Parts: sequence; structure tokens; C-alpha cells
Amino acid sequence: MIILVVNAGSSSLKYQLINSIDGEVYASGNCERIGIAGSKITYKRPDKADFEPLKIVMDLSNHSVAMEKVISLLADKEVGCIKSMDQIDAVGHRVLHGGEKFAGSYVINKDVIEAIKDCIPLGPLHNPANLAGIEACQKAMPGKPQVAVFDTAFHQTMPEEAYMYALPYSYYEDYGVRRYGFHGTSHQYVSQEAAKALGRPAESLKIITCHLGNGSSLAAVKYGKCVDTSMGLTPLAGVPMGTRCGDIDPAVIKYVMEEDPSLTIKDIDRIMNKESGVLGISGVSSDFRDLAQASEQGNQRAALALKMFAYHVKKYIGSYAAAMGGVDAVVFTAGIGENTPEIREAAVEGLGFMGIKVDPAKNLSCNRVGGDISAADATVKVLVIPTNEELMIARETERLTKQA
Ligand code: ADP
Repeated sequence: MIILVVNAGSSSLKYQLINSIDGEVYASGNCERIGIAGSKITYKRPDKADFEPLKIVMDLSNHSVAMEKVISLLADKEVGCIKSMDQIDAVGHRVLHGGEKFAGSYVINKDVIEAIKDCIPLGPLHNPANLAGIEACQKAMPGKPQVAVFDTAFHQTMPEEAYMYALPYSYYEDYGVRRYGFHGTSHQYVSQEAAKALGRPAESLKIITCHLGNGSSLAAVKYGKCVDTSMGLTPLAGVPMGTRCGDIDPAVIKYVMEEDPSLTIKDIDRIMNKESGVLGISGVSSDFRDLAQASEQGNQRAALALKMFAYHVKKYIGSYAAAMGGVDAVVFTAGIGENTPEIREAAVEGLGFMGIKVDPAKNLSCNRVGGDISAADATVKVLVIPTNEELMIARETERLTKQA
């Protein structure tokens, strides 16, 4: 099936026209600065090696205008890849937060839209933008089947001991305060691909997936289902990230606010989301390539940031092996997981006692393409698998529209 995958942000709309069977991407791009001066659309044709990507500067007053333009590009006589909109079988939307209402993907109807609206308090920045993307597609392609794929859904199988916080129970009942987890589409995709690579059914495997990018999270996937994940109520929890602090003692907030009474809770929120993580520690950058360079040049805090990141990933790997009573495979994915052998090596260093060991040469040579990097005598497979959230969304969209 030919699926249009849409990832709408508050002022952006990323799109990919993708074949859900073989994963071929016919067109992709981004509409940027929607509703802001200086908006533009990029349009690429990954299926054509000689295609010069287009950058079109034009007024995009809202998501609907952007969507209309995307469709006209896709079906354009000169640069398009389809004859008409009719060739698009369905649209798959990435939606950030599905709360407890969505444990899977859903064909979008009025009830689903209402339920996504109900989850706005949990995803105040993303859910309204995702709804704007859905509305824009409904307007531009009336009657076309549309599917919502949630970042939180894959984690809904966690048992209550893993998702509850030890706070007054009424916070859970009244406000929905609990661990939800994110990057679900990526964790689901790479765990399924890992099972394929190992030639075994996912239902027989215990897999730890490490999605390490600007935002990073790990998941424990036991017999095909997520049983724990490192992000929480929001994507701030877990390992330290590019600019997010990850797990800290919650009492730090009160302490710091008492030390510096000028700080407001909004400041704290900004500092913990945007000024912490490896950026906060190093004072250099949130980008791991910059940190590696600074560290090589002798910057001690950049080196510390890298060490802390790998150490926390390692602690989660150990704890998830304990949570599942063993582990068959550890999977690295996303920008850092796919491209940074030093972090992969450091994150499993010393885990030989658990059967986790990488082969240094294989680890160095697998960048971007992925592969098995475990040492010959390892009992646990260590795999690098490039993530593909768009393909997962396209597959889910195909599955749901065929069922409908
Ligand atoms: P996001 O969470 O924004 O999708 P990514 O998965 O693209 O982020 O990860 C970005 C991180 O991956 C950055 O810290 C970057 O330094 C790191 N990285 C390392 N090598 C590469 C590479 N070759 N290409 C892209 N990102 C890389």
C-alpha cells in the first residue's frame, strides 16, 4: 500500500510517501515555520538518485495550506511521484500522547479525535499540533482512511508495578500521573526487526532496546511486549539526554529554588528540559559529535558528560535484564545508537558477566547500516538496527485500514 506518513508539530509538518510493503520512500520533506514569517517546504525524492531536492519559500498560513501544497507536489507533472491523490491508499499520523486510552493504533473517527483531545493536558505542545495535522489531511483528502499511531501505545503493556509512581494514589486516579513512556514506535520497530534478524519469534525473546538520540530512552521488551521503559509521565525522565536531565532526586527542585529564590517553576522546567543533560554538564554542546571532539581535545567536562551518558545507559541495561529475568539481545538505535561505536562500547563495558560483549572491529564497522556486533563468545546478541518510525507507522496504517 502507498501510505502518506505525517508528523505534525506546532509549526512544522514532516511527511513521507512510503510503500508499506517494501519500505521504499517515494518522497519526503518538511513544511517549516507554518504560521510564521519565512515559511518553506522541502521536497525530496529518495527514489531518484539524480533528483535535486526542492526548497520552496512560500506563505504557509496554517497546516491545511501546507498539506494542500504537499499533495500538489506529490502529484505534480514534473517533480511528482504519483498521478493523483487517488494513488495514496491511506494516511498515518504520528501522535505523541495517547494516555491510557490508546494501547494501539486506531483508525481516526470522531471518537478517536475526542480522545486525542482528552490527552492534551498530557501532551500540551504536541497533541494540538498532531490534531492540526489530522484536520489538514481530512480537509485536503476527504474520505481518505487515516490512522493515528501513538508514541506511548507500545508501552501500555507495562505492569502496574513498573508504571506507577510511589506518590499518593489519588494523583494517578485524579490526574493520570504515572509512567507512560515515549519513542514507542521506534522501540516496537527495532524489537521486531531484532527478532527477524535473530530468526526467532519476538514472543520467545527478551530484548532491551536503546533508542539513543537527542532524546534517549530504553525499553525492556519481553516476549514482544514492553514491560518497562525509562521515560515517564513526560520525556524528561530516564538517562541524561542532549539537553534533558533524565532521572534526578526530585528534592533538587525545592533545594535549588530555595538557594536561588528568583527561580520560578517555569525556569526550572526550562532548565531541566533545555539546559541540562550532556549540554549542562559539558557546557559545550548537546551534540555527541561536538562532545567527542571536545573530549579528544582534552575538555574534561565533555569527557565526563560522555562517561555519564554511557554509565546511565549501562545501569538501565542491567536493571532491565533483572526486570525480565534475563536478556537475549541488546539493540542500539537512533542517531547516537547507530553512529557512535564509542558509546555502544562504553555502555556495555564490563557486562561480560551477563554474556554481553561486543566485538571491537564489528562495532567500528557497522555504522549506519547496522548489524550484529556481539563478540564470538557472547551469549547475548548486541545488534545495531537503524530505526524507521515512518515505516512502522506505514505498516500500522496498512494493518488497520485492511482490517476496517
Ligand atoms: P532526534 O532525537 O532529534 O531524532 P537523532 O536520533 O537524530 O535525534 O540523534 C541525534 C544525536 O545523534 C546527536 O547527538 C548526534 O551527535 C548523534 N550522532 C552521532 N553521529 C551521527 C551521525 N553520523 N549522524 C547523525 N547524528 C549523529
